[in-house]
Amino acid sequence: MDATASVAIETVYWALDGGIHHAKCSQRMVLTARDSQELSFSCLACTESVRLPLAAVTRVAVAT
Ligand SMILES: [Zn+2]
Repeated sequence: MDATASVAIETVYWALDGGIHHAKCSQRMVLTARDSQELSFSCLACTESVRLPLAAVTRVAVAT
């Protein structure tokens, strides 16, 4: 796991509604692209985008 991946994991979380949320602004992110290696999410609130490697998806924290 490289440094970029660990950053992506920490900037997003799974919400109880099943969507990826941006940790910084607690807003739902939309999936903008996907390929065999990673998913790309865009935050509707701050327009930041996060690239999440597929291998890291299961390591994303789940909101409680
Ligand atoms: Zn955001």
